[in-house]
Amino acid sequence: MILVSACLAGVNCKYNGGNSLDDAVAGLVANGMAIPVCPEQLGGCPTPRLKAEISGGTGADVLDGKCRVIRENGEDATEEFIRGADEALKIAKLACVRKAVLKSRSPSCGCGKIYDGTFSGKLTNGSGVTAELLKRNGIDVITEKEYSE
Ligand code: SF4
Repeated sequence: MILVSACLAGVNCKYNGGNSLDDAVAGLVANGMAIPVCPEQLGGCPTPRLKAEISGGTGADVLDGKCRVIRENGEDATEEFIRGADEALKIAKLACVRKAVLKSRSPSCGCGKIYDGTFSGKLTNGSGVTAELLKRNGIDVITEKEYSE
């Protein structure tokens, strides 16, 4: 079983109330091969919601207590992001997931590159909070771009 970002499957769980439909990922769900999850919703974030980015670090730093997830208005969303990562991991373990296809660049789901915390569209090396937690638990995480290559 594969875990996928729900927004890639067409679920309207993005910060702006939309989705990031990816036909290949939606196909995995339609064929019963994947479970869609949205860590931010699982963590208690409303939809729509203000954008959030990891400020001054990566998902690994957030999990290690070294930096925070901050919304555009300066609000601290760290707790919700960590709770969402924990719940996504719980689902992954329940379903014996070994692989995850997650939305690129997201502060939760991004893998390898994420937004740099300046809300300017710039990227930095690192992964989002959920992607990092899944990787630390032995799950192979890739982005939707790598999946469709
Ligand atoms: Fe998509 Fe992940 Fe953001 Fe939810 S947290 S909207 S699944 S990228």
